[in-house]
Amino acid sequence: MTRRPYIVGNWKMHGTRAMLSEARAIDRAAQRHMKVEVALAPPYTLIHPIHREAEQIAVGAQDCHHAEGGAFTGDISAAMIADAGAKFVILGHSERRTGHGEVDAMVRAKAESALAAGLRIIMCCGESAETRESGKAVAFVNEQLKASLPLPTAMPADVAERLTVAYEPIWAVGSGTPATPADIGEMHAAIRALLIDLFGVEQGAEVRILYGGSVKPENAGEIFAVPEVGGALIGGASLTADSFMGIALAASEPFEN
Ligand code: PEP
Repeated sequence: MTRRPYIVGNWKMHGTRAMLSEARAIDRAAQRHMKVEVALAPPYTLIHPIHREAEQIAVGAQDCHHAEGGAFTGDISAAMIADAGAKFVILGHSERRTGHGEVDAMVRAKAESALAAGLRIIMCCGESAETRESGKAVAFVNEQLKASLPLPTAMPADVAERLTVAYEPIWAVGSGTPATPADIGEMHAAIRALLIDLFGVEQGAEVRILYGGSVKPENAGEIFAVPEVGGALIGGASLTADSFMGIALAASEPFEN
């Protein structure tokens, strides 16, 4: 993997305009870490204000609706978030899958809609604690990802540019306990094989695969050293510039990949 590590913050439902100063600090710090690609997915309400001020970081959304528009009270389309300045959207996050009943087919429809609106997508996947304990984590994630990604025929030619995959074991998200390097390595290798199978070596080998789930400045170096880890999707530790950029710093040090 020759691409820059990709470090993405997911602010979830945190942040009013009072957080704009933190986004500014992240943007300033990102200008000193050019070896790393830094991006932020704030709540919808902060996409435009952050986009307007940001000089270095890309801004994205945490979800979008699959339809272009219509009678969907409370929803927001891919074209709308793109219009607000979003360059990417996170899709299939476990908090959407479990909290909002998003099934794989729904996630796929959103992905196709986002790509049509010109957005890059970060496709999340990950198993529950029960699935991991049953020894079926790799098979589960393989099936979930295959069913959630757009069909290869629906992908643009520059797959590696438009698609990022984030492996986020559900039990590791927000728990304070990340997956072990061995488990991350096994899963990322399986995801890489699937991406090559779906999109061919040229594109499939270049898609970045992020790890997400309790990444902190203290454990980031160990995680980034795992083969096939191309960066991280970060929740809690992305809420302050200090901890988020501590992770970016760990990613800017050489790691074998
Ligand atoms: C996430 O929400 O995508 C996430 C990885 O959260 P945390 O870093 O807090 O575990």
